[in-house]
Amino acid sequence: MSDFVVAYVLSNELVKVSSQLPSNKNRSLLVHSLVKELGLLSPRSSNSQCSRLQLLRPNLASANDLSSYHARDYLDYVLNCNHFSNDGTPFDAEKAAEYGIEEDCPWFQGLPAYIRLVGGASLTAANTLVQGQADIAINWDGGRHHAQKSQASGFCYVADCVLALLALKRSRLPSSLETVVSPNVSLRKPRIMYLDLDLHFSDGVSHAFYNTPETPQILTLSIHHAAPGFFPISPLSLLPPSEPSSSFDPFTLSVPLAVGASSQTFFSVWNGCVERVKDAFQPDYVVVQCGVDGLAGDSYGIWNWSLGGHEDVTGAEEGSLGWCVEKVCHTWGCKTLLLGGGGYNSPNAARAWAYLTSIALSRPLPLSTHIPDHTFFPLYAPSFTLDVPPNTLSDENTVMYLEDIRDRFDWVCEGIRERLTTFMTGASGNRKS
Ligand SMILES: [Zn+2]
Repeated sequence: MSDFVVAYVLSNELVKVSSQLPSNKNRSLLVHSLVKELGLLSPRSSNSQCSRLQLLRPNLASANDLSSYHARDYLDYVLNCNHFSNDGTPFDAEKAAEYGIEEDCPWFQGLPAYIRLVGGASLTAANTLVQGQADIAINWDGGRHHAQKSQASGFCYVADCVLALLALKRSRLPSSLETVVSPNVSLRKPRIMYLDLDLHFSDGVSHAFYNTPETPQILTLSIHHAAPGFFPISPLSLLPPSEPSSSFDPFTLSVPLAVGASSQTFFSVWNGCVERVKDAFQPDYVVVQCGVDGLAGDSYGIWNWSLGGHEDVTGAEEGSLGWCVEKVCHTWGCKTLLLGGGGYNSPNAARAWAYLTSIALSRPLPLSTHIPDHTFFPLYAPSFTLDVPPNTLSDENTVMYLEDIRDRFDWVCEGIRERLTTFMTGASGNRKS
């Protein structure tokens, strides 16, 4: 088996600043501690079929790097400590509100370093894929999918998903797999699929790439909860129309799910929509936002998604988060970037991202694995195991609704194919770089 490399972005500085994030205090510390304690950071297990893990230090993003998406005035404001007193009170409240640095996105001392490091971490991860140095790259401190071009929003200050997608978009691939790269080789633009599994709609990312008139290079698909008043409100968070519509952008897709969404519901959505969209779009890269606030036990308590299935079962149950990520990592054949996201039960977020790391590495841990004795061990009570099992919340996503989703994606997938064909046969199909 050829060397399959999983790059894991980590540094003490990244953990320190990410642990200061007001919405997720110390979560980063728990996550990386558990990953390490479970032995996942060792370069290779004794099993030769497994992948090689490579630790990757995040580069600090410069203002220039960040300005590939963020507005300069926003960066000037958030990367400068002089706008706030020591207790975080803004000297100009109106200005702070303009940039969203208020309420659920308050100022904190480490914010400039946080933005540079988390943005830099996802860029480092994306670039390692572009350079062919890894097959999967992981940044659990990223996935800040609500951040806007000029505004912080929903606990998100830096649009690292968008920055990573833009870095992948700028890269070029050989036109055919057989071609050996040489100065004269024909290069083509890659296609990148963004898949968002967080409880919340990926408004920051979906809006960034909505209806881009140029190449259909990036497709966003967000699976999320939607209900009146539930954050974030956006017309893009709705299901595609039931009938074909030329004004609908088939590269900006949403699947809203009701309360209690379970692994069974995800299994149906996966087969009826996610796999078919992937087949129609044929991405080169996949970026997965693995927010875990939809898992059972999260403080939101809205979905009832399980991490891997039932206790004592080795391998993930169909439709569980682990099963979905396994499909992307090991059956899609794309270079894959795994990012974090929401998740407000920190021990469960640590369980989930440690388990997903083991899946990425093709060394899936049994869900009954005991949490190793370490500093944060008491936080894993009462089960002290890796699993995040479902609870008794009933799934309100009906069979009829799930069939309706599948039906709508019939014409959506056709629309993706048609637009790609139109583009490929157009004058700008393949370019020399
Ligand atoms: Zn969320």
